[in-house]
Amino acid sequence: MFDSMKDLETACKACNRCELAKTRTHVVVGTGDIHAEVMFIGEGPGQQEDLQGLPFVGRAGQLLDKMLLAVGIERSMVYIANTVKCRPPQNRDPLPEEQAACLDWLTEQIRLINPKIIVCLGRISAMRFIDPAFKITQQHGQFFEQNGRLYTAFLHPAALLRNPNQKPIAFQDFIDLRAKINEICEMKIPL
Ligand code: URA
Repeated sequence: MFDSMKDLETACKACNRCELAKTRTHVVVGTGDIHAEVMFIGEGPGQQEDLQGLPFVGRAGQLLDKMLLAVGIERSMVYIANTVKCRPPQNRDPLPEEQAACLDWLTEQIRLINPKIIVCLGRISAMRFIDPAFKITQQHGQFFEQNGRLYTAFLHPAALLRNPNQKPIAFQDFIDLRAKINEICEMKIPL
């Protein structure tokens, strides 16, 4: 248990709990408001994220920013992290043992931030945080309550870059998120 995000960050940046430590450039701990009411959890760092040490700064991240801004949410209003904090080689899916080795960091970040809403970006994150049998194509955008927090999952922005025809469906989830924020959070987003 850490007293602050700063302490967690320092320890996390020295992590050697799995093989991904050997090939990473930077540990991508997370970014944003450490008191955010809404937290996004992606899959894992890609090439740009690994080089810069920040989550969602490549093409998928730019699309995420665009969709957030279109519903009035700036990156600084939320916290963004990933299921694994080091880049899997060639952007392969993180292995179950890598996800398991990394889970304590995220659990601790969630405890420190204490968000009201957690948005899983993509299948891997949704399977880890909502339901191992989660079906992202059918269940994206639905809200699930767990331990006093709301969880939802969105289609991953990288998947939207591959299938742009899914952007309108995906964008509806951002609109619904804004409504949910205005319903249950202290922060309010003008329509
Ligand atoms: N995809 C993710 O899931 N996370 C990132 O940080 C970047 C791309």
